[in-house]
Amino acid sequence: MRESIIRHESLSASRCRSIRIALLVCLCAVALLSSCGKKDPLRDLESARVVRIRDGDTIELADGRAVRYIGIDTPETGQPYADSATLFNTALVLGKTVRLEYGRERLDRYGRTLAFVYVDGRMVNLEILKAGWAWCFFFGENLKHTRELVQALDGAMDSHRGLWKIPQPETTDHYVASFTSFRFHRPDCPNASDIKKDGIVVYAVRDSAIYHGNAPCKNCRP
Ligand SMILES: [Zn+2]
Repeated sequence: MRESIIRHESLSASRCRSIRIALLVCLCAVALLSSCGKKDPLRDLESARVVRIRDGDTIELADGRAVRYIGIDTPETGQPYADSATLFNTALVLGKTVRLEYGRERLDRYGRTLAFVYVDGRMVNLEILKAGWAWCFFFGENLKHTRELVQALDGAMDSHRGLWKIPQPETTDHYVASFTSFRFHRPDCPNASDIKKDGIVVYAVRDSAIYHGNAPCKNCRP
């Protein structure tokens, strides 16, 4: 009798074990299937090969198109740190196959293609900001990824990377920006006088205007 109880218990224990193993196999299969079905968000983007680097924010593709990165601006050729920005961009993408994500506006006024560019799953526009070789430059309707880009810039400025190793010199006693345009000006800039009174933001420090995602006006060059 005692023996049969023991045998009965061990039988039901082994049945439990089998059920547990079967459940585990099922769970693994479900996990495997769902990971196979997960779509790479970059998979459907157009891909192209980078054959030349123009500067820190512009590249050329094998099909002849020039691509200007959306949302960032790097020092112009001849300005301090322009070479560092170009070298950083070169190391990231030259000779590589990249993926292009377009904004709402496809071309700028110079006929360059505007894009967020991805290499090895990373967004180049963001990487250049993170390294401290660019400031944010938003315009028109191309406002995708704005928050991420400003956060990347702020991280670089907080850690004094690249352009932000030393504070930028002040060029006037205060700066004027608007809530909507992402530009800042010298107070005497004609563009600044166009800003509506209730939309004016005043910054005492140049770097503070940049930190909030504003780019220096190309006319008054604050
Ligand atoms: Zn201006």
